Amino acid sequence: MTARDVAAAPRAPSPAQSLPRPRVRRATAVPPGEGPGEGRDEGAAAGSAAEFTAWSKEVRSLAERNGAIILAHNYQLPWIQDVADHVGDSLALSRIAAASDARTIVFCGVHFMAETAKILAPERTVLLPVLGAGCSLADTVTAEQVESWRAEHPGGLVVAYVNTSAAVKAQSDICCTSANAVEVVRSLPEDRDILFLPDFFLGSHVIRETGRNVQLWMGECHVHAGIDPAGLRRRMDLEPDAELLIHPECGCSSAALSLVDSGELPADRARLLSTGAMVERAREIGRGTALVATETGILHQLRRANPDGDFRALDDSAVCHFMKMITPQALVESLRTGRHEIDVDRETAKRAARAVQRMIEIGQTAPAVSRS
Ligand code: SF4
Repeated sequence: MTARDVAAAPRAPSPAQSLPRPRVRRATAVPPGEGPGEGRDEGAAAGSAAEFTAWSKEVRSLAERNGAIILAHNYQLPWIQDVADHVGDSLALSRIAAASDARTIVFCGVHFMAETAKILAPERTVLLPVLGAGCSLADTVTAEQVESWRAEHPGGLVVAYVNTSAAVKAQSDICCTSANAVEVVRSLPEDRDILFLPDFFLGSHVIRETGRNVQLWMGECHVHAGIDPAGLRRRMDLEPDAELLIHPECGCSSAALSLVDSGELPADRARLLSTGAMVERAREIGRGTALVATETGILHQLRRANPDGDFRALDDSAVCHFMKMITPQALVESLRTGRHEIDVDRETAKRAARAVQRMIEIGQTAPAVSRS
């Protein structure tokens, strides 16, 4: 899929009919020994309470010695979430990185997140414990493709989901996360061509919510796109008291909203939420049950936020192996050795910073969960 194809695609509001779905490219080359098989599931982080205590003590002591702050995305392994200074979604963590005065930021997430932290905090050292922790969604679009769309749409505006490389951000007018994508698009003038990239499902959600005429890049995250709509209705029938928490990147989000539109699913049983907003919702459901459609790492935060609630994955196989590459051992090694330092060249960082800064100024953030 090229920028030219996207630019030529029929315009919204019927994005789902516009183009065949492309196969996404997988994330960038992975250094030997750091492939997705490394620490791919929660078993890699499993251990006794005593082991966790010893490991977390070492991590906290190394972090203190290095003047480091540890940020963890909601999809990280439970041990990583439990040892981090702050756990949250991309927007919340970006804001913390921007405001932090720590000497070093250790980003437990994927490559574009660490790059974003570096863009927002250029004077700080930013570490990503495993360099190969990429993102299949970010890899669906390049800076050259954005440039090509711009050449064909003079005056057009590019909205880049934060799941993009620094080079793509530098070619964009404004970034967004799933938490503020709707508000970001609403903030743009109505008389300009808009390209939303790279996530097709999130872009479709933005079009539904804003009614704006937005062109969509046809990228997708292999984890979220794989959450199949087929089982959705059956699960909801089997669990009549459960509500559905859906990340807007999910392949099942359109199916869920169709069920709501047809009256088969009450509107208050299905919510499209960023992961940060899911944590907030978890606190409100008491002893209720929620089926959760996103990467399964979020379940740990939901259960921590509300131990009385019953939180289950809609699809147990929705595991991002890139996120799970940040193993407990990799975090310790990163703190011991200072690897892997993330850098973004000055000119790219300067241009990307404008787009990212606009993003963090728009919309409410679901607060990160911080160490007490
Ligand atoms: S879950 Fe998808 S969008 Fe998120 S980091 Fe993994 S591949 Fe990228």
